[in-house]
Amino acid sequence: MLSNKVVMYLIDHHCHLQHEKYENMKEEVIKQTCEEMSYVVVSGANEKWNKKAIEIAEKCKNFFATIGYHPVDAVKYSDKEWEEKLKTLEELAKHPKVIAIGEIGLDYHWIKDEKTNEIAKQRFLEQIRLADKLGLGVVIHSRDAELDAIKLVAENKRDNKVAFHCYSSHKHTELLHEHRFYAAVCTNIVRSKSVKKFVKRFGIERLLTETDAPYLSPFVGEINYPRNVKIVIEKISNILDMSLDDVSKKIKENFELLYNINK
Ligand SMILES: [Zn+2]
Repeated sequence: MLSNKVVMYLIDHHCHLQHEKYENMKEEVIKQTCEEMSYVVVSGANEKWNKKAIEIAEKCKNFFATIGYHPVDAVKYSDKEWEEKLKTLEELAKHPKVIAIGEIGLDYHWIKDEKTNEIAKQRFLEQIRLADKLGLGVVIHSRDAELDAIKLVAENKRDNKVAFHCYSSHKHTELLHEHRFYAAVCTNIVRSKSVKKFVKRFGIERLLTETDAPYLSPFVGEINYPRNVKIVIEKISNILDMSLDDVSKKIKENFELLYNINK
């Protein structure tokens, strides 16, 4: 008898394959990831990682890059230096592999003082406007700052090419839907009740999967890899009572719709 083959599309919407943790096995990891995955987004976060994200994205047809300044990195620069960084970012963002400006956002966990957070907000805003000007998406980091980040992006991005990465709060689901924003859950779903609750409330519409590899491995003490999104798909399938096949197809559709990819 023939068995019904499940087709699982694996999409990692956010990982850092340029991380030094992969240094000694880089070519091997890139080759294997390229073979296994439907889409992979290599995410920049600072000057060095932005360039490397594009370099790695060039190596596989199904790889893309995001480039931008993480809030903790963005606040390190003087106003004059920042002006230069923004200009370079704009030039780099014209590369055909770049699909979004990210990861950018707010981080109230690492940045505590108000004055620095004002600078972070301003630089976040400038990067949102850059994405808007270039017709690109934005990938948002919003640690302990979800509501402020949602509001700021809603007020300044004229389309809904907006994805909240590694969304770990179970709050603000209505607000995200109201603006038709996307949200990605990552491999920390295995440990986080809040992420599970979020999936239940948010549903499959505009939901994405990611790993944040090499961080947030589902296996304690190990390096994370893009292929581990399989585990995220399994969790979503349990929580939403959908087949693995249906979950992975829908995530793929969501991703293609967000970034206008026609397959
Ligand atoms: Zn990241």
